Amino acid sequence: MPRENLPPRSSIPIRGNPPDLLKLKGECPFLTRCNKARAACRQEPMPPLEEVSPGHFLACFNPIRHDWA
Ligand code: SF4
Repeated sequence: MPRENLPPRSSIPIRGNPPDLLKLKGECPFLTRCNKARAACRQEPMPPLEEVSPGHFLACFNPIRHDWA
């Protein structure tokens, strides 16, 4: 997400393609493309959506930590 208080920088896409939205398996849709996946990502259903700061949500068992404010 672009931030007004930080200098502009390029986004680095992850490898692979998005999943077929008509064939979602009930697991994290990034599982086959994510280099941060851990056991919970393979064993649990879709991670729950959590609000990490007012109006900002994420659903990940191993999110990158930074200032969400
Ligand atoms: S839950 Fe997070 S860490 Fe796990 S596979 Fe999905 S995006 Fe990657």
